[in-house]
Amino acid sequence: MKKKVLIAGAGLGGLATGLRLAKKGFDVEMVEKNSQAGGRLNQIKKDGFTFDTGPSFFSMSYEFEDFAKDCNIRLPFEYIELDPLYTVNFSGSPKTYFLYKDIDKLAEQFTDIEPNFKEKFERYMKKSGALFHDTVDLVIKNNFDSLAAYVITLMQVNPAHLPVLFKSFYAHVKAHFSSQEARQIISLVAFFLGRTPFDTMAIYSLLSYTEFKHDGYYNVKGGMYKIVEGLVHELQKENVNIRYNTEVVDFVEKDGKLDYFLDQNNQKLKADIYLVNADAAWFRGKIFNREKYSEKRLAKMSWTMGYLTFYIGLKCKLPQVNHHNYFLGNNFEEYAKNVMKHPDSLQKPYYYVNVLSKYNSDCAPDGCESLFFVCPVPNLYFKENWDDKEEITNSIISDFSKRIGKDIFPEIISKTIYTPIEWRDQFNLNYGSGLGLSHTMSQIGALRPANFDEKYSNVFYVGASTAPGAGLPMAIISSKLVTKRIEKYALKQK
Ligand SMILES: Cc1cc2nc3c(=O)[nH]c(=O)nc-3n(C[C@H](O)[C@H](O)[C@H](O)COP(=O)(O)OP(=O)(O)OC[C@H]3O[C@@H](n4cnc5c(N)ncnc54)[C@H](O)[C@@H]3O)c2cc1C
Repeated sequence: MKKKVLIAGAGLGGLATGLRLAKKGFDVEMVEKNSQAGGRLNQIKKDGFTFDTGPSFFSMSYEFEDFAKDCNIRLPFEYIELDPLYTVNFSGSPKTYFLYKDIDKLAEQFTDIEPNFKEKFERYMKKSGALFHDTVDLVIKNNFDSLAAYVITLMQVNPAHLPVLFKSFYAHVKAHFSSQEARQIISLVAFFLGRTPFDTMAIYSLLSYTEFKHDGYYNVKGGMYKIVEGLVHELQKENVNIRYNTEVVDFVEKDGKLDYFLDQNNQKLKADIYLVNADAAWFRGKIFNREKYSEKRLAKMSWTMGYLTFYIGLKCKLPQVNHHNYFLGNNFEEYAKNVMKHPDSLQKPYYYVNVLSKYNSDCAPDGCESLFFVCPVPNLYFKENWDDKEEITNSIISDFSKRIGKDIFPEIISKTIYTPIEWRDQFNLNYGSGLGLSHTMSQIGALRPANFDEKYSNVFYVGASTAPGAGLPMAIISSKLVTKRIEKYALKQK
């Protein structure tokens, strides 16, 4: 008889694993707290506009292709390579840097400020590439059954990389480049891991290789939410039912296994195997009441920053603004050292702007533009009260207006704001932390909450706070890793 798997959460991790398992012959059912699938990879449709709410591009496109191959389908969305990857603008300077993948085109922009940029960049890339190739397959794409197995694997990594474990991303970049601009632009990618270049290990300089050289970044035609729509459609073809507005709030165990979950209406959710796509640390604490993940212990863990995101519909076009843009201030070091913890840093915020309608005309009415702003902010552990959200968003809109030479306030016809409170409440994100647990030395590999449960052999985890980590390609890798575990478990039950 088919084994039944119940998946709690229809984020990318849950959806991808649901499809993998359904294709392997499992009877899959999913429940999702919200009224639509996607989790952080979500969408708002409002006032005639469409907004992607979280991710705006992804790297490692081959992981998605590999996933499609495993499921014997064609990827149910179309992705487009970004080149330039994005633009970077500094406060007080009219110059816009375009991050081209072509090294000559990239280097040209640094001729007046960074002597020998090309040579320096090539040297930096060589190291980043070696780091990537020596660690990704071995460490990131592997299940570890024990700490010992993890340590043995780490010992196989080329010892030449040891120094990057003991210095910050920024220190590593600083050793390669002399200008403030090059240092800030190259180290910006550390923010994509939910921390700053000053408290992210230099080992993650491998991300520079993934963005510029190895594969780059990709956008999805029609908006990022097409990924979710495509996967939900594939799941429907496999008769996988997703029950929306259904939140797992409790559980009952029997004979050392999980017997069933209970939803908010006290309805039983029963299966043979359970997969949790909710945050793997938060769920263990909040639902399973594990001491190791009590509120006190969660507070001691390192969580990524929060995001203040807002979605704006304009009744005009902005031809002067590119598709993906970073707007930085002129106090990078001071800002980066404060942004995780100190609300004061929001007086001079740094932010990202995505103009979704630039290449997806369906996402805004004719003559209009759909804008998505992301501003890194302290998570709820460091800033609980967000009564000042209007004030902060207005200061960002005002700064943006000045920088692009157009006052957009009178053009706004739609506005939605998510503070870390909305991020927490919608998706059960601890402290409203955008990317879940940080990728610090003590929270990666076998030291991250495992993708199998410590107590119940029929419970597994997928997603950002379990192995391997945060980001869309990682959710796809996470789904592959946990599928292997579930298959192995199911085989043993026969
Ligand atoms: C603002 C922002 C920008 C980002 N930008 C990028 C980017 O550009 N590129 C990139 O690669 N990544 C980006 N990320 C990261 C990326 O979105 C996440 O790493 C990824 O989407 C996480 O997927 P997941 O499946 O692990 O979790 P989630 O998306 O959080 O899905 C978990 C699901 O479980 C549901 N759930 C939780 N608890 C329960 C419960 N008790 N019962 C039932 N359901 C429950 C939630 O509602 C949710 O739908 C960004 C994230 C944010 C917040």
